[in-house]
Amino acid sequence: MELVVQKYGGTSVGDTERIKAVAQRIQKTVRTGRQVVVVVSAMGKSTDRLVSLAQDISANPSRREMDMLLSTGEQVSIALLSMALQELGQAAISLTGAQVGIVTEAAHSHARILEIKTERIQKHLERGEVVVVAGFQGITASSELEFTTLGRGGSDTSAVALAVALQAARCEICTDVPGILTTDPRLVPDAQLMAEVTADEMLELASLGAKVLHPRAVEIARNFGMPLTVCSSWTNDPGPAVVSLPTQEAGAQTAALELSKAVDAIEFDDLQAKVALLRIPDQPGVASQLFGTIAEQNVDVDLIVQSIHQGNLNDIAFSVAKSDILRAHAIAEGFCARFGGNPAEEVEVDERIAIVAIAGAGIIGRPGIAAQMFTTLGDADINIKMISTSEVKVSCVIDQHDLDKALKVLAETFATPLKSPLANPEAKFPAVRGAALDREQARIAITEVSDEAGVAAKVFGALAQNNISVDTIIQSQRCRRSDDGRLTRDIAFTLARSNANAASAAIETLQSRLQFKEIQVDSQIAKVSVVGAGMLGQPGVAAKLFKAFSEAKINIQMIATSDIRVSCIVAETDGAEALKLAHAAFALGSSTPENIAT
Ligand code: ADP
Ligand code: ASP
Ligand code: MG
Repeated sequence: MELVVQKYGGTSVGDTERIKAVAQRIQKTVRTGRQVVVVVSAMGKSTDRLVSLAQDISANPSRREMDMLLSTGEQVSIALLSMALQELGQAAISLTGAQVGIVTEAAHSHARILEIKTERIQKHLERGEVVVVAGFQGITASSELEFTTLGRGGSDTSAVALAVALQAARCEICTDVPGILTTDPRLVPDAQLMAEVTADEMLELASLGAKVLHPRAVEIARNFGMPLTVCSSWTNDPGPAVVSLPTQEAGAQTAALELSKAVDAIEFDDLQAKVALLRIPDQPGVASQLFGTIAEQNVDVDLIVQSIHQGNLNDIAFSVAKSDILRAHAIAEGFCARFGGNPAEEVEVDERIAIVAIAGAGIIGRPGIAAQMFTTLGDADINIKMISTSEVKVSCVIDQHDLDKALKVLAETFATPLKSPLANPEAKFPAVRGAALDREQARIAITEVSDEAGVAAKVFGALAQNNISVDTIIQSQRCRRSDDGRLTRDIAFTLARSNANAASAAIETLQSRLQFKEIQVDSQIAKVSVVGAGMLGQPGVAAKLFKAFSEAKINIQMIATSDIRVSCIVAETDGAEALKLAHAAFALGSSTPENIAT
């Protein structure tokens, strides 16, 4: 008999009427001759309410007690949903994560699933019962049987992990939208349903703020080839299939559900050259004009990094194919002169660079991985000139001379094969598939850090030790002499706002070793991103985005790109508007073959 796992989110079980409606929907599925395992979240906003209760008591409650508290939310909804099913005459039983045996790491508040025992669920399924499992929670393997939670939004991950463990035919995430849309319909009403999205794109979108799916749920689905769909809880429409292109064969088994390898591949590209523009005005329209001109000349820009401004000046660095460097250099010089700068001093071209990157969905939420890459390079005495990260990739620009050494040490550290070349244009995919907004980020800048090998390792190592994940890391382009004569750079990164204070405190402890000038924390930011697997090899995607912002006079504070996304940090107050503009700039709201109207 075919088995499906259905997950119902908080809104879908927000009150007793909805719970009854969900019970009917589940019963319909059972009547089509399938076995059903249901995963539910806590009712409505009840997890938020529990969090605020804790905050009334303590500014910094222990993670263990938070797990004890938050795991009660799901226990309420599983019991009520089972009652509702029984009321319809459908045999059902509710089980907590501990009762099922959802075994996790001991990391409270962000535990990863190691293993799921299936015996008890199987026994109930064989009796014809619907099994209703509490999402978001698990239990440690130790004899203490500690309760753990997976991190906010983690019920999606519980559902996909259960589907894999039970070898279900598919996993359906039932929620308050009809499927995965081009962006958040609450912010952009003309968001369109996507007919298809690749796992890599979905991973980026999910980690850049599209909360419709928990990124780790996408990771597991991808790793195990589990068919994953998002559908509405209110209709019986199954919703379009979304996550395609599994990296492993369907049904493949690895030792642990979530703890399979963090890094899937080491990538490199030594065909790129770097152009940097220093001290250009920090005002709306600058990036748009620069990259607009570059796109007009059909030059494809790969990595773009714009770090924090100093006063009203900014640096922008980007990489282009070595074969395009003369054209890119000329454009940069013309641009610099137009803003009254001196091209001889303010445009730098470096043809002797190479990009090395580690990639893998397992990097998400594991702050130690990027730090490990920086440490590996630092220990080998390799200076990192530029860093650009996404949650699933960390790219470093280094001297071309160091490439062989870098690849060797990275391959040893991560025991991972080399994938080459870095560039892999996927012409069949649209350049931009969706847009996302993250308004829960803060930016930290550390100014005038000594420019030497191993600095990034120290900074991000200290954060990793405190279990703080960072998203976008940007290391400034320009080296400056500090007052005491040191050669310095600035390092900026974004992270969850809730971690900003802890991160700042952790970095403060490095002051005597790194001798930086100051730590600046800005919580009033928003990150707007566009994602598409066809972006690579299509000049002008970034330029189009920058132009849309420039026309609306939105200043871009920081830029970071990877091969399938462009992210811009803007003022928090500009966030929602910037998302709408990004969505419109790529015509995501109109019907195209990729975007079928709901
Ligand atoms: P649940 O409680 O069911 O887990 P969530 O609130 O976590 O639901 O996720 C669903 C919400 O995600 C939608 O209501 C929508 O506002 C938001 N969302 C953000 N980006 C997207 C997107 N690209 N596609 C669909 N929904 C999105
Ligand atoms: N109830 C948890 C939360 O609100 C888990 C989830 O809904 O996925 O984050
Ligand atoms: Mg959710």
